[in-house]
Amino acid sequence: MTSSPLSATASDVASNTAADAAAAPQPSPAAAAPPFDFDVTIVGAGPVGLALAGWLARRSATRTLSVALLDARDPTRAQADPRAIAVSHGSRVLLESLLEPQRWPADACAIHRIHISQHGQFGRALIDRAEHGLSALGYVARYGSIVTALAEAVSPTPTQWFPSTSAHTPAQTPDAVSLPIIRAGTGERMLRTRILVHAEGGLFSEQTASPDTHRDYAQTALVGVVSVSRPQPHVAWERFTATGPLALLPLGGAGQTEFALVWCCAPAEAARRAALADAELLAELGQAFGERMGRFTQIHSRASFPLGLNALDTPVQGRIAAIGNAAQTLHPVAGQGLNLGLRDAYALAEALAQHGATPLALTSFAQRRTLDRRLTIHATDSLARLFTLNYPALGALRGLALTALECAPPVKTALARHMMFGQRR
Ligand SMILES: Cc1cc2nc3c(=O)[nH]c(=O)nc-3n(C[C@H](O)[C@H](O)[C@H](O)COP(=O)(O)OP(=O)(O)OC[C@H]3O[C@@H](n4cnc5c(N)ncnc54)[C@H](O)[C@@H]3O)c2cc1C
Repeated sequence: MTSSPLSATASDVASNTAADAAAAPQPSPAAAAPPFDFDVTIVGAGPVGLALAGWLARRSATRTLSVALLDARDPTRAQADPRAIAVSHGSRVLLESLLEPQRWPADACAIHRIHISQHGQFGRALIDRAEHGLSALGYVARYGSIVTALAEAVSPTPTQWFPSTSAHTPAQTPDAVSLPIIRAGTGERMLRTRILVHAEGGLFSEQTASPDTHRDYAQTALVGVVSVSRPQPHVAWERFTATGPLALLPLGGAGQTEFALVWCCAPAEAARRAALADAELLAELGQAFGERMGRFTQIHSRASFPLGLNALDTPVQGRIAAIGNAAQTLHPVAGQGLNLGLRDAYALAEALAQHGATPLALTSFAQRRTLDRRLTIHATDSLARLFTLNYPALGALRGLALTALECAPPVKTALARHMMFGQRR
């Protein structure tokens, strides 16, 4: 991307009112200028907020709604995020209306097969694209590439981008929601909106505890990009080890040798691993993963993410909705967080198209999302906890569960379909 949609449209926003255009660079009190006024305001231009803005701008029924998108972070800064994200086939289908083939992240690598196993125990399960008649079960792309692609899809639309953060708690009346926003250089200004959408999810380590469900897994994900000597292209690996789940996601690269590593363990162990020299870390990784892809030869772009669960029971309160990580932040096992968030955004766009910027739209959205959110939150929470308990008998039970999964195609199909599509109504 050559220029940032945030900075590109900052002048449009600045000319929203004459008072604003004349604003001095000193912070000004919120009351000094009339409030901005929108039908829908989305706080957070991460992948989920961007997708919602894009879908709203493309649906004829919502094209007439005025939409504001707030984020102090320039989308180009997302390029520095070291996460690689597995985007399911179902998410790809949803995103097709926003990202024509030429806009799909150029670095996205298709997943043809998922291999699930556990270290030091029997039992494994395979999910293959052929079983589902698909060209790919999903795609792996870097977080920054996904944000860039979505930002480019939103920037030509009438959506107003505010390089701002929301501040304080929004105030809600029967007709609208008001919140002060802070804009660089011009200080605080009130914004009034018919519907407010929280999409400023963030990472578990940055969030305040949800009043509903909050669980610190006491685990950290060590991520990085590794190269292997005998790659199996387009295969995603999920391996449960005594210290936590280990995933290797295909990234392609020269000779298809690159895989994104997500290796979860207790924080002290993660700190120890993070301090190891590359060669030592790769040797330990080889022990945990085995030799299915030969040797691990290189690692770069290492980073660590503390993990936990933060989830709201209901993502709606009057005229305020939460989507994506703002509604539920999950353990990355099984790669469900963004996929679930995109389904939130899609359902919200549909509800707003049907009912306009009204509380009824949010009630309908909340009802539609109940089952999918509940099942996905419960499934990832169970996996994160069950596959890390370290009792010998449990290892055998997990092995039986994986074998049973492999031997019971309808169960495996149901699981794969939930991972790909969630529960949509
Ligand atoms: C190690 C790891 C691996 C993962 N792997 C996968 C995977 O394979 N598949 C998958 O589906 N998910 C995965 N996830 C989860 C996924 O990254 C998140 O679910 C997803 O990024 C959530 O998107 P979001 O837009 O809701 O929030 P975010 O990506 O956190 O974006 C939030 C945005 O809000 C902005 N913001 C924050 N505060 C404010 C404010 N006050 N005002 C305005 N803007 C604000 C931020 O600048 C940011 O742009 C993984 C997570 C981790 C940690």
